This record gives sequence, structure tokens and C-alpha cells, in this order.
Amino acid sequence: MNIPMLDLKAEYALLKDEIEPAVLDALAACQYINGPNVKAFEAEAAHYAGVKHAIACASGTDALLIALRAIGVGPGDEVITTPFTFVASASTIVMCGATPVFVDIDPRSFNLDLNQVEAAITSRTKAIVPVHLFGQPVHLAPLMALCEKHGLKLIEDAAQSFGASYGGRKSGAYGDIGCTSFYPSKNLSAFGDGGLMITDNDLLAAELRVLASHGSRERYHHHVLGYNSRLDEIQAVILRIKLRHLDQFNHRRSTIADFYNQLLDGLVEIPFADAYGHHVYHQYTILSDRRDAIQKVLGDAGIACAVYYPVPLHRQEMFAATHGHLSLPVAENVAQRCLSLPISPMLKDEQIRRIVGVIRQALA
Ligand SMILES: *Cc1c(COP(=O)(O)O)cnc(C)c1O
Repeated sequence: MNIPMLDLKAEYALLKDEIEPAVLDALAACQYINGPNVKAFEAEAAHYAGVKHAIACASGTDALLIALRAIGVGPGDEVITTPFTFVASASTIVMCGATPVFVDIDPRSFNLDLNQVEAAITSRTKAIVPVHLFGQPVHLAPLMALCEKHGLKLIEDAAQSFGASYGGRKSGAYGDIGCTSFYPSKNLSAFGDGGLMITDNDLLAAELRVLASHGSRERYHHHVLGYNSRLDEIQAVILRIKLRHLDQFNHRRSTIADFYNQLLDGLVEIPFADAYGHHVYHQYTILSDRRDAIQKVLGDAGIACAVYYPVPLHRQEMFAATHGHLSLPVAENVAQRCLSLPISPMLKDEQIRRIVGVIRQALA
């Protein structure tokens, strides 16, 4: 039997009896845009994350773009982020007319190297966008201190870490704005695209709503250039149900990671879990000098695996002219040696044993 990266079919089978009648009810209610489930989901998500405001939008990418616009990022500004992430963490900075400034990563956590951030701050720096990569919270206290010291804003890219926690609060709740994604592969996922912005700040919350609805405070009066970025009612129905299962699913992900760790220790470099936060294993990512061999043998055995991410952002063609000269050795090295293994709340122990058995063969 093939093993997928994420077993959405098994998850669907588990939740089908809850989801199908609720979706049919929403179809019959015909309030497809700004309906009651979107409002209810926003309230439930804000409560879950422990923040005052949650504003739903069309994707994680839109959440980042709108958050950056809301804090006033524009042409001439610099925003510090990581090169080892999904492209949207940085492309959204460019979409605002600003310049991403890439700081190398820590070789163990794969998150921003906190020792290198301050040196990257200039008079143009407006904000820092830490990414809680693979579900591991960034150690935010030193970053918040830097933001305070230099008058910068903090936008958390929590697309891979919804439900993770740090210092007693949920991922995304510390920043001026926290952004997450409900893309189908994320820990809390919709049956299509969706995103969310969270904040405790009343003024920013109002600004996020204005930007997400065509820059309009009052209908047909447009104050600023905005976007059409909304979460569908049907996706909200699905997300409300799945939110109730999130902690249990995230807990299962960490149990799976512990089991992988136990079986893989000594064979490959197992992921490092920082003591500062609670990791939700959006991905279970190992390092090996023989990554390509492992990938091939797993593929031949019908076991999915993936390289997140093969090319750090400063090496992407879209950034060649502006950032191609940079050397960020840790990100470049990790990109050549990383491999993410199947992880899904539905993964069974015997499947994990089989995956590790195949890796053992590949390395023999
Ligand atoms: C998925 C992801 C995004 C973008 O979310 P979409 O909903 O796909 O637009 C942004 N940042 C990171 C780190 C992601 O993993």
C-alpha cells in the first residue's frame, strides 16, 4: 500500500458524518458570502488563539499581504524574514513595494538565526516576519525585544503552526498581527483556500477588515486600495468542525514525531524540538547527506516524501536580480540535505515502522 505525505482521505472518512450534513445546511441557507458561519468561525478562532480579533480572508498569502499593508509597509521599506520558507513569506513583501531582507537560519530549528537579525536592521527596516517553520515556534522573546528597541512591527507567519504554542500563548498571538493559512495541507485545513489574520489591536483589526474588503469602511466608499479577500461560507463550515479536532490531531502529530525520532535516531539527523515552544509538526523533516538516495528508495517503495524547500528564496529566479548575490550558507546547506517524511494524524505505527525500514535499507 502506498503511503501519502498527508492522508486527507482517511481524515475525510473520519469526519464525513460531521461535515457532510453541515455543508448541505450551508448550501441550502444560500448565504454564500459573509454568512453566519464565517462570523462564528472568526469568533471561535479568536477564542482558540486567545486574541481579541480574528479576520478571515481568502488565503495565507492574502493574510500576509493585507497584514503588511495594514502596518504601513510600502515602497522604500525593508522587511526582515527567512530565506528558508514558502515563497509567500517574502513575495508578499515585494507585492507591497518593499524589499525583503533575508537573514540566515539556525541549523537546528530551521527558523531565523536570532543572533543575526539585529545586524540586518537599517533605518529603512519596518517589520520582521518570523516564520514558524514546519510547526516549530520561533523563540519570539528576543525578536520582540528587538522590535521594541528599534520601533519595528512583528508579523508572525503562522501558516504552518496554527495550534502551536510559545510561552503560554498560541502561535500568531504575539505579533502585531499573526497570519495563518487553511490550504489543504496545513494543520488546520479547508477543502480549498482560506486564511486568517489575528490581532489584539482594535485599530489594526479594523484596518485589516477595510483592506480585505476593497478598502471600504462604508459601502461603495473606498478609502484606500484594498482587496477582495474573503473566506467562503462553505469553507467556514468545514473549518469550524475541524477546529474542534485540531488539538487532538496536533497531539497525534507530536506522538508520531516522537516515534519517528526513536526509530531514526542515529540513522539520520532527526528534527530538533526547541524547549521554548510546543511544536505541532506540520512537517517531520530530517537531514541526511544521502538525502537523494533516501528519497529515491522511498519513492520506489510507494512512500511519499518531499523536499521542503529545495531552493532557498535568495536563490530563486524571481529574486536573482535583487538577492542572487547573497550567500546564506546554512539555508543553502539545509536545502540540499532536508527531507520531509509522511506525517498525518492518520498515520499508523506500522506505517511508520515500514517507512523507517525502507530508510534503513536505503542507507545500508
Ligand atoms: C502555505 C504558506 C503560506 C501561504 O498560504 P496560502 O494559503 O497557500 O496562500 C505562507 N507562508 C507559509 C510559511 C506557508 O507554509
